This record gives sequence, C-alpha cells and structure tokens, in this order.
Amino acid sequence: MRRKLLVANWKMNGSLDLCRRMFPALIDVARTQPEMVICPPTLHIAETVRHASGTRIRWGVQNVSEKAAGALTGEVSVPMAHEMGCAYAIVGHSERRAFFGESDELVADKVQACLFHHITAIACVGETLAERQAGQAFSVLARQLRLLLERFDDEAWRHIVIAYEPVWAIGTGESAQPEQIGQVMRFIRHFADAARPGLGQSMSLLYGGSVRPDCAEHVFQSEDVDGALVGGASLDVESWLAIYQAACRSFDLDSLQQAA
Ligand code: PEP
Repeated sequence: MRRKLLVANWKMNGSLDLCRRMFPALIDVARTQPEMVICPPTLHIAETVRHASGTRIRWGVQNVSEKAAGALTGEVSVPMAHEMGCAYAIVGHSERRAFFGESDELVADKVQACLFHHITAIACVGETLAERQAGQAFSVLARQLRLLLERFDDEAWRHIVIAYEPVWAIGTGESAQPEQIGQVMRFIRHFADAARPGLGQSMSLLYGGSVRPDCAEHVFQSEDVDGALVGGASLDVESWLAIYQAACRSFDLDSLQQAA
C-alpha cells in the first residue's frame, strides 16, 4: 500500500516558541494515515521530541550528511538523526541543490545513508522555470531519478518517497495546476516502472510547491498524489491543520484501512 503523508518543511524558520505553540494543537488531530511529519530546523529536534514522543506525529530532518561520522564541521549524520527518533530525512531539496551544489550522485549517497540507518528518505526532484520553458522538464526529472532507480532495489524503495517540487512553484504562492501535477506524477510512475516493473504503482509520490489551504484539495485530487511537502504554510498552525485535514478528506481512508 502506498503510504500517505504530509510533511512540514520549516526550513530555517521557527523557534522554540513555535514548537511550544504548534505541537499541542497537532497532537489530537494527527492520525496514523496520512502520517503527519514535521521537519523543524535540526536545533529544534530535541524540543520536537519532547512534544511529539508518544503521539502519532512523526518528525524528520531537512538534510543529512552522506557520511556516518567524521571531521565535517556543521554537518549532521543519519545515525544522529536516528538517535533523535527521526523517521524521515528530506534529501536533495532544490534549495540544497541550488545553493549548496548538491549533485544527483550526492543525493543518491545521502539516500543510501538514510536507508542504511533505517530512516525513510524523502528525495526531492523538480525542474526550474527555465527548464520547463525549454521543454526539458521530463528530461530533468529523468536525470534526477535515474541514479536512484539504478542504485536501489525494490526493498530499498519501500523506504524512499519521491517529492516532486517544481522549483518555479516553491515559495512563490503559485502552486502547479492539478493537470500539471498529474502529468508529472504519471511520468514518474511510468519512468520508475520502465526501470523496475511494478515500482511505479507502489512508490509514494508527494507534491510540493506553494501548497496552501485554498489549493490543497485540488492538489490531492490527482489519484497519483500521495501527499505533500509543505514549506511556508506549515509554519502557521491553522494553515497546516487545514492542509492536513484536506488530505484526510481527499484520501479514501476507509479503503486504505481495509487494505492495511
Ligand atoms: C518546499 O520548500 O519544500 C516548499 C514546498 O515550500 P513552499 O510550500 O513554501 O512552496
């Protein structure tokens, strides 16, 4: 069964005060499906653990090193994230690719580190506006996905989630249209199937890029979308809850539970 999840990416935002206000409001709302995953800044993971332990809320880190330990000032390793109870790690976010020069190879190494230490990797892919306008969206996605499909077998893919985040939609307030999202999701599933028969239908695909309460239901209407990665709107308690509740309404939870 494809896992359904809503992932909050706080990026370099938030504070201890936000943790203290946010978590009490989420605890009674969070269900097991769709999973509610909060990825605060790494320094706020400990506070997250304090509030979310023993609840249905899961948490994760926004980035990890591909190395397990060493002289790498400022980096955070997957074993450290695992020790803090992180179930997820976002890997290869477009901001990491653009501002920190992360390559497809490095992203694949980070996914591998996650899998080795039992953390589910949320691997981000997505084209820039220039690439879309040049008609290169699908070739860019194919390039970003190819190494992951070559390197990881079907068992590993049970612990990899792909987040399609068109760079032109991130933080702009302009989400991609449902038809555009559906088209890309279908492409990703076909591309995955061609490399690994059967994977296309079993992999979990998230959409990310200006998901807000007013467009959330449209985003979830594509049957190929299994959830969302949410940036800006996840910093506001009401917006985040509205998006989560839209996901709960959109996914057919009864049939999910029967299939579980
Ligand atoms: C993101 O950066 O992962 C993201 C989706 O941001 P926003 O929702 O703010 O567009």
